[in-house]
Amino acid sequence: MPISEDEFRVEALEFLEANAKLRPEVSTAWGESSDEVGLLTEHTPEEELEDLRAAKEWRARVFDGGFGWISGPAQYGGRELPTAYERIWSSLEAGYDTPSQSQFGIGLGMVAPTILAHATDKVKDAYLRGLYRADIVGCQLFSEPVAGSDLAGLQTRAERDGDEWVINGQKVWTSGAQFSDIGEIICRTDPDLPKHKGLSGFIVDMHAPGIEVRPLRQMTGGASFNEVFFTDVRVPDDHRLGDVNQGWTVALTTLMNERASIGGGGGGLGTLGHERLIELARHFGRADDPVIRQRLAEIYINGAVARYTNQRAMAKIKAGGLPGPEMSIGKLTLTNNLRRIADFAAAVLGPRMVADTGEWGTYAWAELALGVPGIRVAGGTDEVMRNIIGERVLGLPKEPAVG
Ligand SMILES: Cc1cc2nc3c(=O)[nH]c(=O)nc-3n(C[C@H](O)[C@H](O)[C@H](O)COP(=O)(O)OP(=O)(O)OC[C@H]3O[C@@H](n4cnc5c(N)ncnc54)[C@H](O)[C@@H]3O)c2cc1C
Repeated sequence: MPISEDEFRVEALEFLEANAKLRPEVSTAWGESSDEVGLLTEHTPEEELEDLRAAKEWRARVFDGGFGWISGPAQYGGRELPTAYERIWSSLEAGYDTPSQSQFGIGLGMVAPTILAHATDKVKDAYLRGLYRADIVGCQLFSEPVAGSDLAGLQTRAERDGDEWVINGQKVWTSGAQFSDIGEIICRTDPDLPKHKGLSGFIVDMHAPGIEVRPLRQMTGGASFNEVFFTDVRVPDDHRLGDVNQGWTVALTTLMNERASIGGGGGGLGTLGHERLIELARHFGRADDPVIRQRLAEIYINGAVARYTNQRAMAKIKAGGLPGPEMSIGKLTLTNNLRRIADFAAAVLGPRMVADTGEWGTYAWAELALGVPGIRVAGGTDEVMRNIIGERVLGLPKEPAVG
């Protein structure tokens, strides 16, 4: 008989009370609290390392306390409780002032579920517990300079050499590679097969000889992603994900989880809420402007649509269904709303958004506006989402296949 939800809640609160402080109330009043509204991390490498240290320390404590992988298999340190208990934990934890866990989003949200679904027991034993305890950080090595939307066109080669594979090639846009310990990579293992059929997935040790990580500076200032070069990198065959040349299935598992985690936001403003936008309009005397009011209403409505679409998709997955085109609708609604939010801030702020005068709550919005294009591209571009909706929801004719 598993612990009841109420007993679990009591246990979780006892842990949180003993290990963390309540999160202070964030004021949305003008000039109070932080005015940060960016979407990407803009920290210096030193700040990033300090954030990572604090995030790891908290995650290890949470794991050791029995809340690190609540629904996971016991053999990897999980508690095998229903996923509803994960949601109880997340909502209780959100009330406490704990370090951001964003560095683990890819490792836990995408790499770990793929390992669970496709890896050998050796790889599961080696990495799953470590990923959930944050002893190990994971990254996603999919995109290449000529293979993004057309992922199956990737060219990084893995060639078999006895019990090992030898990897040569280049990946790009690898978020968090600079602090990752393992990476999920998709390589071409048979160039003579049709492009979707000659791929295989592997887990690589990011500290292996022959791997070089070079940061890419983004226009918002930070450097969240990297180019990753592979020169004769050796990977044991038991680190293969799924069967040889079945890497497309492996990639799809990861991409479904990626779309779910990106589309899963709260409609564009996260914890900030709409109050921040209302305050912005009030402060600059635009709260009675009918056009501004109309735009605010659109943001509110579309934020709710994104949230509900995502909840519908999540309910389907929880009921045992496969993530479907709802994920694409959820992601597209979210990114459209982010663009509306950035445009709204620009309409109210005018030149204040591009000239840093030091005034609270003004130039800070530039970071959001400059981050939106990245979110419209990450995890499947807006155009690719529209193709999926056109073909799989509306039943329009398929695009002509290329290659
Ligand atoms: C914030 C961020 C984080 C990322 N993190 C990672 C990561 O950790 N790991 C990783 O592997 N990758 C990562 N990426 C890369 C991301 O997956 C790719 O950028 C994305 O798949 C698009 O590929 P691309 O950049 O090569 O653009 P392209 O595919 O070259 O697209 C260029 C343009 O053509 C359009 N286009 C392409 N194909 C079609 C089509 N069939 N129909 C209509 N229009 C089309 C696109 O919409 C886009 O406007 C990240 C990207 C971003 C922005």
